[in-house]
Parts: sequence; structure tokens; C-alpha cells
Amino acid sequence: MKAHYINGQFTFGRATATIRVDDPATCEILDEVPLGTAQDVDDAVQAAKRAFESWKRISASERAELLHEVSRRIRAHKEELVELLTREEGKPLPENEEEVVWTYNTFDYYAELGRHLRGRVIPSTEDGVLNFVIKEPYGVVGCIVPWNYPLLLLAWKVAPALAAGNTVVIKPSEMTPLTTLQLCEIAFGHLPPGVVNVVTGDGTTGEALVRHPDVPMIAFTGSLSTGQKIASIAAPMMKKTHFELGGKDAFVVCDDADPELAARVVAYAALINAGQVCTSTERVYVPQTMAHRFTDAVVDFVRSLNLGHGLDPNTDMGPMIGDRYRQKVVDHVRDALARGARVLTGGNIPNRPGYFYEPTVLVDVNHSMKVMTEETFGPVIPIMTYRDFDEAIRLTNDSIYGLGACLYTSDAKKVRRFFEDVKAGTIWINDPLTDNYAGPFGGMKYTGGGRELGEEGLEEFRETKHVHWDIEARPKPWWLPYHKNA
Ligand code: NAD
Repeated sequence: MKAHYINGQFTFGRATATIRVDDPATCEILDEVPLGTAQDVDDAVQAAKRAFESWKRISASERAELLHEVSRRIRAHKEELVELLTREEGKPLPENEEEVVWTYNTFDYYAELGRHLRGRVIPSTEDGVLNFVIKEPYGVVGCIVPWNYPLLLLAWKVAPALAAGNTVVIKPSEMTPLTTLQLCEIAFGHLPPGVVNVVTGDGTTGEALVRHPDVPMIAFTGSLSTGQKIASIAAPMMKKTHFELGGKDAFVVCDDADPELAARVVAYAALINAGQVCTSTERVYVPQTMAHRFTDAVVDFVRSLNLGHGLDPNTDMGPMIGDRYRQKVVDHVRDALARGARVLTGGNIPNRPGYFYEPTVLVDVNHSMKVMTEETFGPVIPIMTYRDFDEAIRLTNDSIYGLGACLYTSDAKKVRRFFEDVKAGTIWINDPLTDNYAGPFGGMKYTGGGRELGEEGLEEFRETKHVHWDIEARPKPWWLPYHKNA
């Protein structure tokens, strides 16, 4: 059994129960972790609070060197992290290799960015007065992470939080805590004790972190419903919250696109990580004039993909993370069929162990169906036709979510319309689901307004203080009492 990581030590804490972690491709047990209690959370928060006092004073260059060392250590252990990630989360090896590379690069990026943008001097309104703005850390940041990119989404929070001078308590997903604990063993041992802490557990553990009075900021990635629960606890406590919630990303294909190429790019955007990406393409809109050619190409391509264990190099698509998530896909497909949709390929649970679901193509869909309005988070490609580009834009915006949106065209006028009129945090033109460390990532509307990566991703973890300083400490004519001037 693995243990929490608190104050630089692995400890079982005070947990009386454990959580079993399975390989989703086989349903076999990988290991167990403690179900963290409120007392475990408090132990971690107190360690982080003590460490904060010195961590916030470390010079930016020393902190940068310590964060580069995190990156170097992850690089040195890349292969073992990739393998464990594949066993624990299920996606194919190339996708996990990419995740680990992104993880260590994020530490390098924020190691350097942390040296910049610490505030500014502004012109004073009075002679002899100095006015300046400083950016300071919040203190102990609670980082609550989902299972679909356990290391990457951890790094997008922890690297900027530490670079900004905060200390952290991480609550990984109950389904993927093992790589997070492995990261502690590999990459955080050289940091002062208490700077990074991990408490494993489920929603009750996460809630104890949110409720803790010594945690002034919660950075959360996960579902809308959990985000709403966290918001209802954090708002009366006036905590800073950073939300990266669900999505229902649209992909609009235009009539100038090559149907074969468009089919391949749409399938990639919809099926990477078995459709379990917050920015997965969950709705496809295609012009009526090319619907048949495009749909045939998508079906042919999807049928050519191999389902399997992520460790098998022949695997294109792995399992889903668990039965609860797969049941939601089953429910969405069933609802769509009951309302008139047709399955062109897939639509079944294959007869094999693990939480697999066939990659599925649906047509004759519309916005009365769950599969076009609620987050499905599985390997389903629902294709709907549109008459003209105005309708495509209207359909794209017809969602409570605003995470990302994709367009495939070479028509610059359409590109401009799309990025101006679509309400989403990232717009991808002909290049879906790519990221750039220097470019902010996050959503609008019910996805929450948090931003990760880029300067914005660092700014989220700093608060602003304005200092007025009369260097000569002179008395001012506007001070009390007023009656002597009357
Ligand atoms: P989830 O909301 O079920 O869980 C996320 C984390 O919150 C887990 O660590 C969980 O233990 C914890 N948690 C659960 N209940 C809690 C509570 N009451 N208080 C505090 N913490 C609690 O989400 P999930 O199923 O792990 O992840 C999938 C969701 O995450 C999808 O909706 C997906 O779109 C979203 N997501 C969003 C982004 C983004 O950047 N916008 C990225 C990845 C995933």
C-alpha cells in the first residue's frame, strides 16, 4: 500500500480505510492508498503553512533552480512514470509520453517565468511619495486534480503556484493517485519539507481541503457539479478559486475541407484518451453538401482503429477510466437513439475485461439529445449537418460550456468570424487540441474562468498589493482636524 506525502515524508496518516486503484484495461488491482481524513488534510496544511514562511522568501533565482531540478528528475525517470500512468489511467503509451514531457516542461517554463512580473512602480500623485505594486503568494494552495491527465494538470497548478511562492497540498483523483505519489518519490525530495504535500482520498478528502480555514486558495480541475459544490463552500469563506471545469467542444468542418483529412482530424480530436479530454470534440457540424462523403470517411477511419491495453504498441485507443463513466456514455447513446439518431459504427461495450467502449459514430442527431448538450466524456462522435456558416456558429455557441472550439477551413473570412463570434477560451483552426506553454488555457461560461499556462497561469497564484510610501513621513494638510482650517 502507498502512503500520503506530508512534510517530506511518506505516512499512512490517520486513515482507517483504503481506496483500491485498478488498471482500467483489465480491472486488476494495482495498489491501494489511504482514504485521507480531515485530520490528514490538517497535518498536510500545517506542514505547508510552516514551509510557506521560508519558501515565500527564497530568491526567485534559487526557486527557479529548485523547479528546474524537479524537471530534471522527472526527465530522468520518464519511462517508469509513463508506464505507471498507462497502467493507472489507461490511455496509450504515446499519449502518456506526451503527458510526461509536458509535465517536466511546465516546471521549466514556470521556473523561468517566476523571475518576471513581480510587480511595478507607478507614478505617485504627491511629491516624495513612492507608489508601487507587489504581487505576493496566497499561502497554502489546495490543488484538486482529476484523473484524465493526473500529472499534466497537477503540473499546470503546482509549477506556477510554487513559482509564485505558495506551498501546496495536492489531492489527486482517487482513480489515479499512484503516479502522483511516484512523482513525490522522484521529483520533490530536494524541496524543503512541506512545500509540496499530497493527501490521497476521495471527494470527502477534497472537501476537507476546501473547508480548511488555513487554505486561502483552491485550484480545481474537474466536473461542473464538483466545481459548483466547491464554489458553494469557498464563496462564503471568500477564498480565491480557480476553476477548470467541463466542456462540450464543437468541431465545425467547412465545405472547402478534404473529407478524408477532415475525418482523420475530427477522429483524433474526438477519440484521443477515449474521448476523455476536457477539450475532446463532443459535437461535429458538417455542411449538408458534404455530409455523406465526410461521414463515410469518419466511419471507415474509426473502424480501422485498434482497441487495447495502453501498453500494447498496436493500441490506438484504450479503455475508459471506470464503469460509472462508461454508463454515462451508454445513457447518452441510448437517449440519442430513442430520439431518432442512428449508430453507423460502434455503440457497444465489447466483450472483454476492462472498461472499454467501442468508438462510436452517430448521425441524425440534434440539440434535444444529451449527446449534443451534456458532457459525454467518452469515445462518441455525433455528426450533425448545418445549412450555412451562420447556423454553424449558432450551434457552436448553443452550450452552457465555453472551453474550446475547432474549425477546419482555409477560408480566412470564416476563420475570423469563428474566433470573433464563438464564446470559448481556446479556438483551434485546423490544429485541434494543441497547447503552447506560453498561451493561456481555460474556459468561459460554465467551464469557469480560470486560466492555466502562460503569464495568466502564474498571475492566478499571486495576489496584488499596492504600497503607498511617503519616504519623509511628512504631515499632510488634509488630515484631521478640519476645524482649524475653517
Ligand atoms: P470530478 O469532479 O469527479 O473529480 C475531480 C477531483 O475532485 C477529484 O480529485 C475528486 O476526488 C475531487 N472531488 C470530488 N468531490 C469533491 C468535493 N465535494 N470537494 C472537493 N473535491 C472533490 O471530476 P473527474 O471525473 O475526476 O474529471 C473529469 C471532469 O474534469 C470532466 O468534467 C472534465 O471535463 C473535467 N476536466 C476539465 C479540464 C479543464 O481544464 N477545464 C481538464 C481536465 C478535466
